[in-house]
Amino acid sequence: MHHPPAIKPNQPTVNSPSTMPMTDFPNPLNSNLSVIRARIECACRAADRDPAEVRLLPVSKTVDVATLRAAYSAGLRELGENKVQEALAKSEVMADLTDLRWVLIGHLQTNKAKYAARFASEFQALDSLRVAEALDVHLQKLGRGLDVLVQVNTSGEASKFGLPPEEVEGFVRQLPAFTALRVHGLMTLAALSSDQAEVRRCFVRLRELRERLRQSAPEGVHMDELSMGMSGDFEMAIAEGATTVRVGSAIFGQRPAIRPDTDA
Ligand SMILES: *Cc1c(COP(=O)(O)O)cnc(C)c1O
Repeated sequence: MHHPPAIKPNQPTVNSPSTMPMTDFPNPLNSNLSVIRARIECACRAADRDPAEVRLLPVSKTVDVATLRAAYSAGLRELGENKVQEALAKSEVMADLTDLRWVLIGHLQTNKAKYAARFASEFQALDSLRVAEALDVHLQKLGRGLDVLVQVNTSGEASKFGLPPEEVEGFVRQLPAFTALRVHGLMTLAALSSDQAEVRRCFVRLRELRERLRQSAPEGVHMDELSMGMSGDFEMAIAEGATTVRVGSAIFGQRPAIRPDTDA
């Protein structure tokens, strides 16, 4: 009996021909990336969602520049970092990659807003008006804009940054004053817990908050994005409506042990 070939000759791969140097060894990140993309697709299919609605944000904190260049060769065009100075240093040595977006996902101190304003394309951890104002001032000076998500503390853990859910509506109402900030939605870190139900409650809380805010958000403030889910829980986050999943160790390997939500 005749069987069709298992692999079609023109099947697309992670690398487009233009980003894959012909002489390179196989990029070691490719297999991790294909596994993650397949898991995202699978989670989307299970939730009856279009995989095109879910953005994979690779989290590259503590990862060295050589590996980040490999990530770029593998086709990645955004990198998430939680410490502003580490990210700034990396962006400076990789400034030749002009289409690479730097996404800050960690708490930012007001006095470091000036660094973020210089190079970041997106900031997912906005949780105070002081930081919003400092970012806006520096961005205006540089003639830059910044995509922003508001970080919400959905777990109630004292160690986590982010606004308590009940304060987000009033906070968001103040944001149109900062015209360099383009607000797109919400971000959260789920409870650090082995109890799946507790983790899921965090994701549900963020989604429900967004539904409420969609009714009340002021002109110019968008509530489309839900950034939630990391290497250990992104499938559940997708089931609960994540539009961005932030994946680090499942792409780049285990980091030295540190708390994920440390100060920038
Ligand atoms: C480190 C980090 C991640 C990624 O965590 P992994 O478990 O490595 O996928 C996601 N979000 C934030 C805010 C982080 O600091």
